[in-house]
Amino acid sequence: MKLPELRCLREVELSEILKSIKKILSRGGVEETVVVGSDGSTIVANYSVFKALEWLGVSYVPVSRGSSEKTYVPLEALGFFDSLESSKHRVFRDTEELLYRNWPTPLVRLKNSSLCGRTVWAKLEGYNPWSASIKDRIGWYMFKRLTEKLGSPPELVYEATSTNTGLALAALCSIHSSRFRAYLPSTAAAGEALFRIFGAEVVVSSKPLTVDLISDVRSAADVDGAVNPNQFENDANFEVHLKYTAKELEIQMREAGIVPKAILGGLGTSGHMSAIALYFKSRFNGVKIYGVVPKPGESIRGIRRIETGMKWVHYVELDGVVDVSLEEAARSAIEIARRDGILVGISSGAVYCAYRTMVDVGQLDEGDYVLIFPDSGFKYVDTLVRYLNKATE
Ligand code: PLP
Repeated sequence: MKLPELRCLREVELSEILKSIKKILSRGGVEETVVVGSDGSTIVANYSVFKALEWLGVSYVPVSRGSSEKTYVPLEALGFFDSLESSKHRVFRDTEELLYRNWPTPLVRLKNSSLCGRTVWAKLEGYNPWSASIKDRIGWYMFKRLTEKLGSPPELVYEATSTNTGLALAALCSIHSSRFRAYLPSTAAAGEALFRIFGAEVVVSSKPLTVDLISDVRSAADVDGAVNPNQFENDANFEVHLKYTAKELEIQMREAGIVPKAILGGLGTSGHMSAIALYFKSRFNGVKIYGVVPKPGESIRGIRRIETGMKWVHYVELDGVVDVSLEEAARSAIEIARRDGILVGISSGAVYCAYRTMVDVGQLDEGDYVLIFPDSGFKYVDTLVRYLNKATE
């Protein structure tokens, strides 16, 4: 049956959904039917299989009545790749399509930043339209899910953000005539003007982006009747990367003719790297996944240390976590600009720095490597210039 015609009224534990996703991805297909009730569209058994298929973004679901049947339907036959609907000639009916019909974001070989037999491929998430970052994906998906739940776009939205998710939500709120209030941590106060340009309200907190600030925003939303998408706990954050980001990457890898030895990326909420870890570890044998975080006591916008609290990373397997300082990250972003002519953000610099450090210590064999670059560098010029002299020393 077509997926949109099916309804699942039961909540399913995240761990159960992820277990089913893992099984489906590792077998390359689904091995059992979902059971529907007498009305033909309500799921009555195999809830986690249904949820897994929904999160994986298939178009069709194998169903049966009465009891579940053993069957094998490959993912391709279920329309697994249908969710990627790019506009071939780049014509868009509105600025919302500019996001999801413009995917995949580019995967580019960094010819001059590749090191001794290890080829670097960068996925450039700065090519997303609103915040010029990977966070447009989750802003869009959280907003879409809320709109489906409420029956219409939310009127008032509050979110704690280190800038990028907030900018994505600010843009979506403009598109849908909703009001938006961004709660910025002390470390991101410089982004205030950008929000005001989008017509959003801004509250600059004296707190850093920790559970404390996140719970303040939740309480403020409750008091004011606002919705709080809450990127830190909202599973739409994980789901959107599974359904789109990871899947895009697989298609791009096929076109490039590579199976990477490893994929490296930064951890903030842990949404994108956790989804990528689950997807690639289930679907490809031997692909290693590394997370990148700031060194203790250091602050790099967008990424955080795991112990500051993140959700999905605890449900998946990473092969390692690499610590990078702000200075190393900034210098690496400058190095990429000078070698390959592309200005990437500081957390992208951190990801490149982690790759280079691992090459230096002999941890990475020859082969292809994919680095996820979450945003472009134009927002960070003030920080980058502070490291210009050091980068040329
Ligand atoms: N890099 C930047 C610039 C970000 O804005 C973020 C998230 O806000 C990340 C990395 C981390 O991404 P995630 O939240 O998916 O872990």
